[in-house]
Amino acid sequence: MQRTENRTRVRVSEIFTSFEGEGAFVGKKTMFIRLAGCHLKCRWCDTKYALPLDSGKDYQVDEIKDLIVKELQPFTYKVNFTGGEPLLQYEAVIQLADFIKKCTNLKTYIESSCFDSELFEKILPYMDICKIEFKTEDSKVVEYEDYDNLLLNEFRCLESAIQNNKTTYIKIVVTNSTNLESFKNLVYNISKKIKPSDIIDFIIQPSHGIDQPTVNKLLDTYDIVQPMFPEVRIIPQLHKEIGAR
Ligand code: SF4
Repeated sequence: MQRTENRTRVRVSEIFTSFEGEGAFVGKKTMFIRLAGCHLKCRWCDTKYALPLDSGKDYQVDEIKDLIVKELQPFTYKVNFTGGEPLLQYEAVIQLADFIKKCTNLKTYIESSCFDSELFEKILPYMDICKIEFKTEDSKVVEYEDYDNLLLNEFRCLESAIQNNKTTYIKIVVTNSTNLESFKNLVYNISKKIKPSDIIDFIIQPSHGIDQPTVNKLLDTYDIVQPMFPEVRIIPQLHKEIGAR
């Protein structure tokens, strides 16, 4: 494909192929494009090396397109735009996802904290699969006074993904300290906004290595979700268990 000059730059932490280690598509062969930079403070974050905005390496978007072509392995199912926080570099994400959709038959997948629904809506037309992650009020991923705004944006992203017929699922990370009342309120509020059939899965993901929840704690969260979203599943991060990336 002939290219016009493209000066968009993107800060990328890493590109690699592995299997999907978490969530509804666990086990699917996946190319991961990890964008640098995230301003949230999840205690359980397993990609802390990608959080600084100046981490990774600076590229022209066309260089990443070339890397995608070079690194693409047969039978890859999807490309994950992950981070860090991909929405911080939404212009590059749009260009790369558009390239993937035009030049391959791979599905595009967004993993975001959903902190900004306006940015999310810009990238949405280029995505096939949306993982919408909700954080509980006691998670302290943002300052206390900023939580309501984060939640509002998470809800807007969820509703936009569903309205635009994207394959959508919800994930909530649970630690052993997760307050069950806070968790229950969150799930109840989600159930007031959407129908179970709007999403393909409701995933409870135990934190790995940091404040890991007990099995009983996880079962408590399962029992909260199940009456509202019968398709709930507890899925640990499989790649951590076998030392994969
Ligand atoms: S939103 Fe994701 S990348 Fe950002 S700190 Fe939390 S787990 Fe890490």
